[in-house]
Amino acid sequence: MRRPLIVGNWKLHKTVGEAIALIEKLKLAIGDPGGREVAIAPPFTALYAVRGALCGTPIALAGQDCHGEEKGAFTGAVSAGMLRDVGCRYVIVGHSERREHFGETDAAIARKLLAALAAGLAPILCLGEKSKDRGRTREVITRQLETALASVERPDRVVIAYEPVWAIGSGTPATPAEAATVADLVRERLAAGWGPEMAGRTRVLYGGSVNATNAGGFLGREEIDGALVGGASLDATTFSAIVEAAPFFEG
Ligand code: PEP
Repeated sequence: MRRPLIVGNWKLHKTVGEAIALIEKLKLAIGDPGGREVAIAPPFTALYAVRGALCGTPIALAGQDCHGEEKGAFTGAVSAGMLRDVGCRYVIVGHSERREHFGETDAAIARKLLAALAAGLAPILCLGEKSKDRGRTREVITRQLETALASVERPDRVVIAYEPVWAIGSGTPATPAEAATVADLVRERLAAGWGPEMAGRTRVLYGGSVNATNAGGFLGREEIDGALVGGASLDATTFSAIVEAAPFFEG
């Protein structure tokens, strides 16, 4: 069994003070996560303070993005090594909002993914088709996955997040069956490229309008190993209910 992972992506929300206040509420609400893994991705400016607030808890820290280069003249960028240095275990790579608003290409995402792995982070690779591509999900996911992982030796060090673009922030999630079908496709492609054992070890999450009410439908499916949660991660009670909807894990 793969260890369930629930990730809260705070996007462009929370000052340092607000972030600490939410972490304190989350710690109380989540308590002992029962072997499930929980990670929080605050904005860069709050990472250091959140790391301090999470000290002594099993909750991990994640970056929302990283640059593909280790260092250099890239004003405004943050490297994977810097995220590792500030205490991150994970980094989100290829989120659809980065693809859409920051022009990130599959090739740029592949570089970020390698940079994250080289820095010792576990990348959370987001894949998903746009609304206009709903009839071509298989083709889009295969292209995004295979481009991003082309030079990766150990895909089990990567977490894959299926996030249909039309489901993000829309209040209209995919169905658990649709998400499970894409998780199966991801493992089929991983098995074809790296063998069934590697495919069996790689976690595939679902993201897109997950909330406390619908989380159980996704997290109860054996194909789906967790959730990437945006809006609903900004409320401690809701996010802890999503964590509780994942199965217990004994490692
Ligand atoms: C996300 O930002 O990755 C996401 C899934 O957002 P939401 O949960 O708000 O749809």
